[in-house]
Amino acid sequence: MIMYGYKAEYCDGIVRAKIVKRESFKHKDGFVILENVPIGVCDHCGARYYHASLLRRVAEVATGHVAAHTELVPVAQFA
Ligand SMILES: [Zn+2]
Repeated sequence: MIMYGYKAEYCDGIVRAKIVKRESFKHKDGFVILENVPIGVCDHCGARYYHASLLRRVAEVATGHVAAHTELVPVAQFA
């Protein structure tokens, strides 16, 4: 995928494109989940990288500019 393939920021690995079924992104106080999304994964340490177009998409979803459905997520105290 053209948006990755560059040298990783924090180690000597290469950031490789990987299409994942679901990835959750923080947005302000909440989260947005994108499906079938091309993220970057460092082939050395596994760190995840997000192309700017992914974050633009997250903002579009969060502000209601993209058709999306909502799922309930369980939330609880650790202890
Ligand atoms: Zn790395």
